[in-house]
Amino acid sequence: MASDRRDQAVRAAVDQNLLSETEPVAALLDIAGVRASAAALRAAFAAVTDAPVLHAFAVKACPLVPVLRLLYEAGIGAEVASPGELALARAAGVDPARIVLDSPAKTPGELREALALGIAVNADNPQELARLDALVQQAPTRSPLGLRVNPQIGGGTIDALSTATATSKFGIALRDEGARARVVRAYLDRPWLTRLHTHSGSQGMPLALLVTGIREVYELAEEINAAAGRRQVDTLDIGGGLPVNFASDEETPTFAQYARLLADGVPELFDGRYGLVTEFGRSLLAKHGTVLARVEYTKTSGARPIAVTHAGVQVATRTVYDPVSWPLRIAAYDAKGQPKAGGPAVDQDVAGPACFAGDLLAVNRPLPLLEPGDVVAALDTGAYYFAHHYAYNSLTRPGVYGFVARDDGEVRFATVRPPQGVAEIVAEAGGGRPDVLLME
Ligand SMILES: *Cc1c(COP(=O)(O)O)cnc(C)c1O
Repeated sequence: MASDRRDQAVRAAVDQNLLSETEPVAALLDIAGVRASAAALRAAFAAVTDAPVLHAFAVKACPLVPVLRLLYEAGIGAEVASPGELALARAAGVDPARIVLDSPAKTPGELREALALGIAVNADNPQELARLDALVQQAPTRSPLGLRVNPQIGGGTIDALSTATATSKFGIALRDEGARARVVRAYLDRPWLTRLHTHSGSQGMPLALLVTGIREVYELAEEINAAAGRRQVDTLDIGGGLPVNFASDEETPTFAQYARLLADGVPELFDGRYGLVTEFGRSLLAKHGTVLARVEYTKTSGARPIAVTHAGVQVATRTVYDPVSWPLRIAAYDAKGQPKAGGPAVDQDVAGPACFAGDLLAVNRPLPLLEPGDVVAALDTGAYYFAHHYAYNSLTRPGVYGFVARDDGEVRFATVRPPQGVAEIVAEAGGGRPDVLLME
């Protein structure tokens, strides 16, 4: 079970000194868990269709090269949205034929590189289509090319992550006056446009709404193909966005549940006439990451107990700035990394090290009363947390370690990213040129 493996790994991380006085924060990734999620995703779609499916991991969810490599070995490609993400996918050895480029702000140089490599591109808007027109004329390309549309079906519970609202910045807004006809025309004018893409949003989107968005895109593909008199659109890219349960160890909703909902809501999607691309991010990684931090001090303020730890806004930025949308579970361990038992739970704040009042991982959370030297674990942080360091207070990036826990209790770690040292902080902050501003 995942929580047993986690307890084993926390104890071993303390034993093996990954977490120490000098390295008071460390991030752990459960390799077996990541493999299991990748296998579950592939099995979920294989169970409902024989159509070819490219599962492309949304690199932004965990932009670490060994993670991309692990997923690639498990049969998962990469969805990238910047030159940096593309470079990470290539460094991981991902075949360009299994990469999809989706950014809303691609430069001419990025487009040229993608087309030269044969990477699939989803254009975001008419101006980008015009750039593609020129590039496609200049040189032949193997890149499958598509267009992102926004079905404008509405948002979920988190505004910042809802990409299918009436005024979202992504793709062509399909319900705007005349837009649908313009999209059909764009395909008729461009025989090389063979894909349609949508991604309706992420955490907080109801599954039924995701399915509705995909139904809209399927119907648009049918309309385009009828107008073209041939199967011009041959692949539908249905995005990612499966939400994650941050409230318990249960992995729900599952990929299988989502695939079944899609099979009920858009059965034609799976009848073999269309190839499919998916772009899941959070749902592949979140449950398999844990941030560990040592408790440095404990105190009370206004009678409330507070544990001051070393993990806060730098590793849990969303939780700190928007705790209502992004609550995290916290597990308490003692200084040896054993689950902390004993005593009734006490409501307490789990604070980070940064110098602003809101730097809290949890507020008034019932936990065994924490003491200096204890270890707190922020759970379900494998996506959009420790890999998304926020450089407030010049706090260093923690080390990231993948682990395999064996039945006999042995835990082996692999360093995904070593801890950052303060020398690197100084170098990145212009430390090599202290005098440059001393000019008249
Ligand atoms: C962020 C993003 C994804 C992944 O979203 P998750 O919620 O992490 O699954 C997929 N596709 C696009 C275009 C995105 O912007």
